[in-house]
Amino acid sequence: MKAYKNSRKWSGRLGLLLAASLFSAQPVLAQDDAPLTPDQQLARDIYRDVVAFRTARGQQQVPAMVAYLVDRFKQAGFSDDDIQVTDYDSEGEKTQGLMVTYRAKPGSTAKPIVLLGHMDVVDALAKDWVRPPFTLVEEDGYFFGRATLDNKYGITNLTATFLRLKAEGWQPSRDLVLVFSGDEESGMISTRAQAKYVADNIDPEFILNSDAGGVALAEDDTPVAFRVQSAEKTFATFELTITNPGGHSSRPRSDNAIYELATALGKIAAYQFPVRATELTRSYFATAGKLTPGELGQAMLRFAADPSDAPAIATLRANPEAVGTLGTTCIATMLQAGHAENALPQSATATVNCRIFPGEGAAATEAKLKQVIGNDAVAFKLITNVTESPESVLRDDVQAALRYSLDKRYPGMTILPYMESGGTDGMHYRTLGYDTVAISGAAMKASDMFAHGLNERLPVASFYGGLDHWYWILKKLAE
Ligand SMILES: [Zn+2]
Repeated sequence: MKAYKNSRKWSGRLGLLLAASLFSAQPVLAQDDAPLTPDQQLARDIYRDVVAFRTARGQQQVPAMVAYLVDRFKQAGFSDDDIQVTDYDSEGEKTQGLMVTYRAKPGSTAKPIVLLGHMDVVDALAKDWVRPPFTLVEEDGYFFGRATLDNKYGITNLTATFLRLKAEGWQPSRDLVLVFSGDEESGMISTRAQAKYVADNIDPEFILNSDAGGVALAEDDTPVAFRVQSAEKTFATFELTITNPGGHSSRPRSDNAIYELATALGKIAAYQFPVRATELTRSYFATAGKLTPGELGQAMLRFAADPSDAPAIATLRANPEAVGTLGTTCIATMLQAGHAENALPQSATATVNCRIFPGEGAAATEAKLKQVIGNDAVAFKLITNVTESPESVLRDDVQAALRYSLDKRYPGMTILPYMESGGTDGMHYRTLGYDTVAISGAAMKASDMFAHGLNERLPVASFYGGLDHWYWILKKLAE
């Protein structure tokens, strides 16, 4: 799971929308010099403190961050019974998960809501960064630091919202449960265990994730749409290997591991998986098409109306931002072969990474690739711990709460459910049958996306602008 975290989430389908600025709301206001309110100051303090924990794999810092958060929740009045810390062994690394329950008022009968975030981060090396990665630096209208977006913004936002509601003496009409994982960016051992625990012990009505989605801004900061992550493609990586007796390169055999593998890869390159369309992807294209100018937007609209429209499919397939929404993709990503320049190769291995359309399954995808290659000598090895998950529904109550919250910031903003190319905690809950959508409060433009990369940042205006996001959503869903 580790290797696939680069191209996902925050960079994905957003690009489609960013050329457009048809949405006629006011731009996000730049941070003015007004003093921070107590709620803003509290959130900023938590943000500063959690960014300082280097919760990357190998650093063993998640427990320290958990202890810090536990302290915050206790100070705010959450009792020992409301707080649950669990140890996990994530492939040899000690990590922890944290669950905090905001208890419903007596007599409440509605099922709980679970809220997700992850405390771990992709590591960052100080020597490669312009600023220290584990120090929150506010500069030029941005907060810089590892996980200022992914996902310590979400952790901060959810935590600060709980503390704020508690300070107001608010009592929800149903249990609200924060579930923070400790190895989302690596083994997802804590995520899997928490998802099982949630299913067995909490059985929520639905789940909201802070780790994807959010407001898409155009490059001029004009808000374009609110993205709701409603599905994730299945991630599966295969190693394809040809072995051969080899020999001296001066005495070539008729068969050759490199040639055979190259032939197999050529067939994969030429193959296109069937076009798939679901209610989610069609409505995505119908909405995104209106927000996307030119030929691409027209193709989206035509595909939404008729998923068999061949010219529209050709246009969408040619666009890297759109092709993943059309169906399964499998692509060669690594290659290794031979052992000496003057020896026949004894083996040749290619790594093929698939993003499988929900419902198709890894086994069927493997079978299809084998059929396409048509050479039984190619050995397949699945090297991913695969989690297949169905699409989630954007429930009416969640949509109404989101609308209520968004209208305070961006009246009338388009809400745009989409399918992710893969990789958040959410899939582990979807696979257990829980509707899970990711609805971050962040507002970002494509050029500000540095999650997992160097100099990750979040606009200061987005940080403060989103602080009421969960506050209104939770009030609406649990008033
Ligand atoms: Zn994340």
